[in-house]
Amino acid sequence: MSDQLALLVSKLEDGKVRCELCAHRCVIRPGQRGLCKVRENRGGELFSLIYGRLIASHVDPIEKKPLYHFMPGSLSFSIASPGCNFRCKWCQNEDIAQISPSNEPGRLPYTPPERVVETALATGCQSIAFTYTEPTISFEYNLDVSRLAHEAGLKTAYITNGYMTPEMLELTVPTLDAANVDIKAFDDRIHRKYTAGHLQPVLDSCVALLKAGVWLEVTTLVIPGVNDDEDQLQGVAKFIATKLSQDVPWHISRYFPQPHFHEIPATPAKTIFHAMDIGRKAGLRYVYGGNLAASTDTNCPNCGERVIRRMGYADAILNLNEGACPKCGFRIAGVW
Ligand code: SF4
Repeated sequence: MSDQLALLVSKLEDGKVRCELCAHRCVIRPGQRGLCKVRENRGGELFSLIYGRLIASHVDPIEKKPLYHFMPGSLSFSIASPGCNFRCKWCQNEDIAQISPSNEPGRLPYTPPERVVETALATGCQSIAFTYTEPTISFEYNLDVSRLAHEAGLKTAYITNGYMTPEMLELTVPTLDAANVDIKAFDDRIHRKYTAGHLQPVLDSCVALLKAGVWLEVTTLVIPGVNDDEDQLQGVAKFIATKLSQDVPWHISRYFPQPHFHEIPATPAKTIFHAMDIGRKAGLRYVYGGNLAASTDTNCPNCGERVIRRMGYADAILNLNEGACPKCGFRIAGVW
C-alpha cells in the first residue's frame, strides 16, 4: 500500500499546499512535511504517510481511554498511527507520538481497515478507539475504519487533543460516537508554551462535538506549576459547566514525572481533590480523579446512590435501571 492522497487540502501558489486538517493549518512547500511530520507535499500534492501504518493496537477496557459514561464495562479495540500535532513536554507516549527514525511511517507494516474491524469483532470489542497518539492526523484511515465499523455494528471513539478544524469534524462526526478531549491548560500563553497549539480551537472542538451529538468527556492532566492554579482549574470547570453541559464528565488526572520531563514532581493528591471540588462547585455532575486509588465510582447526582463501581480499569459493575438510578430514577447521562 502506497501513501494516500490527503483530504482537506488547499492548493496555493508555487506548488505549496495548506493542510486544513488540524488547526495549525500548515502551509507546506514541495518536498516538506507539516508540523506533525506525517503529511508531505510531493510535487504540489499532499500525502498522508500514515494511512494504515499502525504503531499500536490493544484490547482495552473502555474505562482506560478514559470514557466512563460510554458503554461502561465494554472492551474497545484501541489503535494508533505514529505522530502528533502537539509537542507536549510531558507526553507519556513520546516514543510513538513523535516521528523519529525508529518509527518512520514507511517502516511500519500496512493494516487494511477491514482487518481492524475483524480483529475488534474477534476479540469481543464493542467499539474501536483511535487513541495513544493524536487521531486527528490519521483522519483518512480513521474515516475508512469508522465507516466499516458502523456497518459491522461497532461504535467508535476519538481520544484527542481536540486540535482539529471544523472541516475535519464535519466529515468525522457522522461515524463518531464518543470523544474524550484533553484540555491541557486554560491559558492560551501556557497552552502554546507547552503544546505548540492554541487553546481556542480545542474549546471550539468540544462545543462542536457535543452539538453534533457525539458523547463527550473531558480530561485535564493537572501538572504543578503549569495548570494547577485556581484560575485555570476554575476556567476549565466553568467552561464545561456553562459552554458544554453539567452532564459532561471531567477527568482530573494526576501527573507523574516522565523520563524526559522530570523536573516537576508528581501532583499531590490533595491538588486533585481540590480540583474535583472546583468541578463540583461549578455544577458538574460527574467529576473523577485519575491516577488515584479512589474517586472513580459514579454516584447518582440526585440521591448519592452508587450507580457504577469501578475497580481500576479492570472492571465496571453497573447498578443502573435502563440508564437511571435504581433508587430515585434520576437519569444518569451517558451511552449505556
Ligand atoms: S495535520 Fe496539522 S500539523 Fe499536520 S500538516 Fe496538517 S495542519 Fe500541519
